Amino acid sequence: MTNLLPVVEQFHSLQGEGFHAGKSAYFIRLAGCNVGCNWCDTKHSWAIDKYPLFSLESLLLEIEKAKLKGASFLVITGGEPLHHNLDEFCSKIKNKKPNDNKESIRIHLETSGVNQLSGSFDWITLSPKRHYPPKEIFLKIADEIKIIIDDTKDLQFAVEIKNEIMKLTNKTNSDILKKRFFIQPNWNNKNANSLAIEFVKNNPLWTLSIQAHKYLKLK
Ligand code: SF4
Repeated sequence: MTNLLPVVEQFHSLQGEGFHAGKSAYFIRLAGCNVGCNWCDTKHSWAIDKYPLFSLESLLLEIEKAKLKGASFLVITGGEPLHHNLDEFCSKIKNKKPNDNKESIRIHLETSGVNQLSGSFDWITLSPKRHYPPKEIFLKIADEIKIIIDDTKDLQFAVEIKNEIMKLTNKTNSDILKKRFFIQPNWNNKNANSLAIEFVKNNPLWTLSIQAHKYLKLK
């Protein structure tokens, strides 16, 4: 049971990328990641012991405040949030008091899928990494697949991931279309934009995701 979680930051903003881009969301960025992507834009979140531990109750209070202000979902991100067992946290968020008829906030997870699944989520964004592939379960259950493009090998990886998902699901395009497939250029690599755009032009299953929060200088 995990009653304390290391938090890098928590804030209310707009989701900047992927299928829910542009929507009001509350973000909790958990510390810790051993996936080691060399282009990672949150390297500061890797070291768990640099960050304070927050009780689940204190996080719940902040989530509730954000929900009252209009956040339509919570995004648990990182770091790699599933380095922590999230069963207790998600269950506390979802378990309403008996006389509380308000709906609990929806929980979105952003993960690389390298750990065991814990917690329960209304939306899972899987961002698989070429050098550290995800566990099969995430390919099956993810609602959204987001591949970060840094070079042409990542485009090949995107194709391989889609093929793997087709093998694991019902192999038809109508089944696979229930999932959302995004290609997102590495923000710090100018060549990545043109690679991603050309790929999406030629592969209509995929959609370009841009990090709107960075263009808008949002958190
Ligand atoms: S999995 Fe995410 S947080 Fe971890 S190194 Fe890769 S991009 Fe950074």
